[in-house]
Amino acid sequence: MHNPTSDAADYAWPTCTACGRDLWHTELGRMACLPCEEKTATRLRELPALFAQLNTTAALMRGARRPDTATTGSRVPPIPPRLEVLSLVAAGGVASRLRDIEDAWRADLHRTDPRWTVAPWRGSSTEAVPAHATFLINNTPWACDSYESIAQDIEEIRQLHAECQAALSGDRKPGRVNVGLCPIVLDDGPCATQLTASAASHRIRCGTCGTEWADMNAWRELRRAQETAAANGAAA
Ligand SMILES: [Zn+2]
Ligand SMILES: [Zn+2]
Repeated sequence: MHNPTSDAADYAWPTCTACGRDLWHTELGRMACLPCEEKTATRLRELPALFAQLNTTAALMRGARRPDTATTGSRVPPIPPRLEVLSLVAAGGVASRLRDIEDAWRADLHRTDPRWTVAPWRGSSTEAVPAHATFLINNTPWACDSYESIAQDIEEIRQLHAECQAALSGDRKPGRVNVGLCPIVLDDGPCATQLTASAASHRIRCGTCGTEWADMNAWRELRRAQETAAANGAAA
């Protein structure tokens, strides 16, 4: 970026650690620039509403998979479950990704002021997402000013926001999502490899035992086998 022939060749003007732009004079000393701070705060403000929509969508998908009444073996034809929606509302989804950021910020704040403690229990993910978002919004000015790892969190929040929007708009962006453990029983016990699927297709292949679930019917079989495996595991 800077001119190698200049006397100041060794001196690099401070840049935003998130977007790489040269900082303005008024921003000197900050970890991230003001535009990055504003964009991040906006995304955090929008996340709770996006999550609420995802939760509703996921509930409809789950409801559609349930058998009607007591008729064994007959299932209501499911609306295609969208893997990216289910994965965002599941454990490891939006709530825990926001919690991880809050925990990291609190740990850093604690180093300079021991009154900062770990995040309190935020309840179910429906309650937790707005609570984490509020904490993060309130502390974004601090984090962009002086938190050394802010660049990766700005990126994580950008990605999380983009994933939620894409999942709601039905955009089939390629990208892999976790769809549970492989239920196939091998000689030495359950395979239990984490299965992933691309949001662009429903072809799922286990990287360990090579079993494939190639279409929506197979995907429903997989889901049933996983439920059975989970029930067996709980009973054992
Ligand atoms: Zn920036
Ligand atoms: Zn397997």
